[in-house]
Amino acid sequence: MMKELPKSVQFIKGVGPRYAGILAKLNIETVEDLLYYFPRDYQDRSHFTPIKYIRPGEELTVRGEVLKVAEQRLRRGLSILRVTITDGTDVLNGVWFNQPYLKNKFKKGQAYIFNGKLNEKSWQFKKKEINNPVFEELDAGENIHTGRVVPIYPLTSGITQKRLRQIVYNALNDYACHLDDILPGFLKEKYGFLDIAESIRGLHFPDDRNHYIKARSRLAFEELLLLQLLVLKRKRGISQERGIKHRDPGRVLEDFLNSLAFELTPAQKRVWSEIKNDLERDIPMQRLLQGDVGSGKTIIATLALIETMANGFQGVFMAPTEILAEQHYLKLSELLGNLGFKVRLLVGGLNQGERQEVEKEIKANEVDLIIGTHALFQEKITYHRLGLVVIDEQHRFGVEQRFRLKNKGENPDLLVMTATPIPRTLALTLYGDLDLSIIDQLPPGRSPVITTWRNEEARPGVYRFVKDKIKEGRQAYVVCPLIEPSDELKAISALEMQDRLAGDIFKDFKIGLLHGKLTSEEKKAVMEEFRDGKIDILVSTTVVEVGVDVPNASIIIIENAERFGLAQLHQLRGRVGRGRHQSYCILIANPTTEESRQRLKVMTATGDGFQIAEEDLKIRGPGEFFGTRQHGIPDLKVANILKDQKLINLSRKEAEAIIYEENWEEKYPLLKKKVDELELKV
Ligand code: ADP
Ligand code: MG
Repeated sequence: MMKELPKSVQFIKGVGPRYAGILAKLNIETVEDLLYYFPRDYQDRSHFTPIKYIRPGEELTVRGEVLKVAEQRLRRGLSILRVTITDGTDVLNGVWFNQPYLKNKFKKGQAYIFNGKLNEKSWQFKKKEINNPVFEELDAGENIHTGRVVPIYPLTSGITQKRLRQIVYNALNDYACHLDDILPGFLKEKYGFLDIAESIRGLHFPDDRNHYIKARSRLAFEELLLLQLLVLKRKRGISQERGIKHRDPGRVLEDFLNSLAFELTPAQKRVWSEIKNDLERDIPMQRLLQGDVGSGKTIIATLALIETMANGFQGVFMAPTEILAEQHYLKLSELLGNLGFKVRLLVGGLNQGERQEVEKEIKANEVDLIIGTHALFQEKITYHRLGLVVIDEQHRFGVEQRFRLKNKGENPDLLVMTATPIPRTLALTLYGDLDLSIIDQLPPGRSPVITTWRNEEARPGVYRFVKDKIKEGRQAYVVCPLIEPSDELKAISALEMQDRLAGDIFKDFKIGLLHGKLTSEEKKAVMEEFRDGKIDILVSTTVVEVGVDVPNASIIIIENAERFGLAQLHQLRGRVGRGRHQSYCILIANPTTEESRQRLKVMTATGDGFQIAEEDLKIRGPGEFFGTRQHGIPDLKVANILKDQKLINLSRKEAEAIIYEENWEEKYPLLKKKVDELELKV
């Protein structure tokens, strides 16, 4: 029978109320918290340097017998303690200032280990001294601070490295054996995993490199397995619910497809059949549609919406910004115009009257498709029969929002779309509860956008080029990082830019302005003018970042491009290259950091969103890249979402095997308990 782990860290030797308070600052409350509080780094103090060979510079470890303990009192309150040790090759002093009580710790003839850096001054005087060395008696049981690979923990004020190390060590000794080993025996056997106590110890106090690697891989696997179980449980939960079984609407879809000016690409056809298949099953669809900017996701969403509407359901299409919602609204109203469906826009910017009108219509089932922003899932909105929810640009929505919208109906189908290409293993982790469809091909006839990076001096040339293109009938975007001039930020604002362009170089052309502070009406009017070709140059902030679709616009100038992230630059670039004209993206930038220079280089080197995402991941790391929390994924302590691809695949495979077993929760109660705990945490 396992002993219970005591709850509070106070039970650990060396931890009283005071240290319990300090540990709490590190979010360590229970013994288990402490055992799972892993080092941020390690220091190899397992090699002893013969004293004869030590030199200033690197931190080093020596061992030797105490020859002499000498205390020197300089004046009141100032004392120096010198402890001389020898290892037979030479002698060395450990030196402590104003800590006279330490002298009682050293006894002549006893062996000690010292760790630290040789004092340069002493070296110049042909002496070997280490100031304030970390020290331990050699034969007093196991060494913790020296003579081994030593853990280095993230600290907070009030606790030293040495103290925390000692506390963790005590906890390991007394309690690691009481930890629940949640991995099923068959998995441990199959992969030769260490047991839990040895693994935890291997992360804090590894015997050697191999011990650390084995310990880490077991704990990373366990972490990933739990994560996979969590997402698969969500997925399985949904798959056991009864969803809407759409029927093939036949003619309506065919006519619609025939009315398009183009044919679907093979990739579009493939994902459409995956989606259609889901729509026509009675399990609720939970699908992620991934495709680079401009790959034609919107048309696929439209097909799915037509199918649900033709079945008598309402469809909802949610976009991350009002501008994008309006774009979709215009586009879909046009596309669906002849089919007799009623489309409405619901965004925060509507006035109260308009909004109440739309809400009334929704409830009374007088509308078929509602396009909008977050406003779509406010409390007071009641859908009539919600058949399909489409969420565009998923990376801006959290899991929780996703669920909230879904709960507006009775298990409506869900289609989430994202232009952020994600490596498969990442998708498995972040969107593990969704099925994945990928459009891996752009519509034909698109020539890649030519991307260049220019500095301030090149501006006149850039403008001459833009002028020529406008005279040929094209349109251009100029994107600025700010709306209004700012004293703190040295960047160009859209207002200044508009003045500058309109007042001089482009005074014969029509210049429009678009930014987030305009009212919905104003934004809509500007976008309409731009779409109709009445505006030649649209000066804008990043509000045009997603989804805006004006095929005749073939140039985008991005000002202060060094200020934007890679994903954002790629999204912005996606505004052009949407029609049959050769398109250009001109990055105007004076980068000051290596990282921003790196980003600009990646942009000019490739137009492939997938590659850009990978580079972005490399530059930023997954935490920042995705903000994992908002995906409803707990923070990982051991596993690395980028590097542990093999373990991710393995854990997925095993989690699938487990979760589809009958009664897995009874068979593996410890796993179930952990998964439930996780579920509460995210
Ligand atoms: P995404 O939403 O994936 O960024 P869109 O759906 O906005 O891309 O499509 C980009 C442009 O390509 C639109 O103008 C759309 O009409 C057009 N398009 C979509 N599919 C095709 C196709 N198969 N052939 C030609 N043009 C297409
Ligand atoms: Mg889009």
